[in-house]
Parts: sequence; structure tokens; C-alpha cells
Amino acid sequence: GERENMRLERLKTVSLIAAGLAHEIRNPLTAIKGFVQLMARRPEQLVPSAHLDIMLTEIERIERLTNEFRMLARPPRALQYAPVDLLSVIKDVLLLSEQQAADRGISLSFQVVMADQSQFLWPILVDAKYAPEKYYRINGDEGQIKQVMLNLLRNAMEAIVDKGCIQITLGKSGDHVIIAVKDNGSGICREALAQIGTPFFTTKVTGTGLGLSVCYSIIQQHGGKIEINSVVDQGTIVSILLPEMK
Ligand code: ADP
Ligand code: MG
Repeated sequence: GERENMRLERLKTVSLIAAGLAHEIRNPLTAIKGFVQLMARRPEQLVPSAHLDIMLTEIERIERLTNEFRMLARPPRALQYAPVDLLSVIKDVLLLSEQQAADRGISLSFQVVMADQSQFLWPILVDAKYAPEKYYRINGDEGQIKQVMLNLLRNAMEAIVDKGCIQITLGKSGDHVIIAVKDNGSGICREALAQIGTPFFTTKVTGTGLGLSVCYSIIQQHGGKIEINSVVDQGTIVSILLPEMK
């Protein structure tokens, strides 16, 4: 029946991604193995710190790949649905990211706009303090939504080479709540735009290409969608739309 089909579809997706994961892990493993073999051959020699650095970087890469893969492969029923207040989610995420942004010389700001300004062109600012919390409520898994926000913020920060700013906007459009993450970083070219979100597509040396796949999967499971607008050399706006909880 339909359930069976869904299960088969899912299995197909997961095994495709698993094949990709195996492939992606092979490179860092080969590098680590090479250095360890070198060390084993000359046990009396001091290991150059550059080699240790590479090994550590590669181990961290495997760590990220497996962490992100775990999130992607988790069955949807593992989600814990409950009322989630997006305002407090954003505040938590800001707290978690503040220091990292400051270290990179990036200013991080947050605004809440009034209802139904889907374009956010002329946002009427509302002091976050006065915004009624239940106004921006969804039914979802708070931890997962935080994960999405952290992934988007991470991408925004990585897109900014030297200083810059990231602005998070919370608002509404019709019966959806919107969170937009805007950066003034590198932007995304058309070729890349067509591919991002595909597992393992990355333009970064140390990227996993799984971050956005995780975001798409989580937001889709929440009945929402992700929109990306980007201009090369100017920046990117990633918007997530989630059905409002009445
Ligand atoms: P990763 O960050 O590991 O590369 P992601 O799935 O998070 O994997 O992102 C995939 C690609 O999408 C990135 O490598 C980058 O090219 C592009 N990208 C995502 N977000 C942004 C952004 N805010 N600005 C510019 N490029 C981005
Ligand atoms: Mg990423």
C-alpha cells in the first residue's frame, strides 16, 4: 500500500545518501591512514605538527559527516512535535552564535516585522519585547528547528570572508510564519544554486554538503518550505516558511 511505497522511497533515498557518505569518508580516512603509516614506519621520529593538524582536521570532517548524516537518516517519527515559540528559538540561537559571529567580525541582528509583509521590503519594526509570543508559534520539534537555524547561520557566516552582517527577520505571510536569514556574503552563482541542498554538494574545502539537506528534510517534515534568493557578491537570503499553529 501507500505506507509500503513510502518506506521503499525512503530506503532508496537513505541508501543513496549512505553510498555518498561512504565515498566522502574514504578521502579523510585515506589521509589519516597515510600519516599513521608514516608514523609507524618511523616511530623514533617526532611527528610534525602540520601532520597532526591535518589528521585532526580530517577526523573532524568525518565527525561532521557522521553527525549530519545521522540527522538526515533519522526516521520522521523520531520528531517530537509540540508547540514551538519561534521567537524564543531565535533568541536561543542568537545566544549560541553571538560569540562566534563576534570573533569573525560579523554583526548579528534580529528584527520582528508585523504580519503579512511577505516581502520584508518596508518592515514595520516591532520591539521583540512586545511581540506576543504565541503569534509566532508552530507545531514542531524545537531541537530540530534550532538545528536548521544553526545550519543557516553557519552557512551565512562562512559566506562572509571578511567582516559583514547577518540579519534574522521573523514575520508572517498568510498562515505561515517566516524566518529569513540574510547575509551580505559571497552569494551563490546560478550553477551552484541549482545544486545546493543535494546531499554532498559543497563549494567549500572543508564542507560536508549535508547542512542544507538536513534543513530541507526537517522543514519538509514540518510541512514547510525553504526559499533561497541570492545575488553573487551581494549576499543571500534564506527564508523558511512554516505553517502557523492556530
Ligand atoms: P556546506 O556548508 O558543508 O558546504 P551546505 O549544504 O550547508 O553544505 O551548503 C551547500 C553549499 O551551498 C555551500 O557549499 C555553499 O556553496 C552554498 N551556500 C549555502 N548557504 C550559503 C550562503 N548563505 N551564502 C553563500 N553560499 C551558500
Ligand atoms: Mg553548511
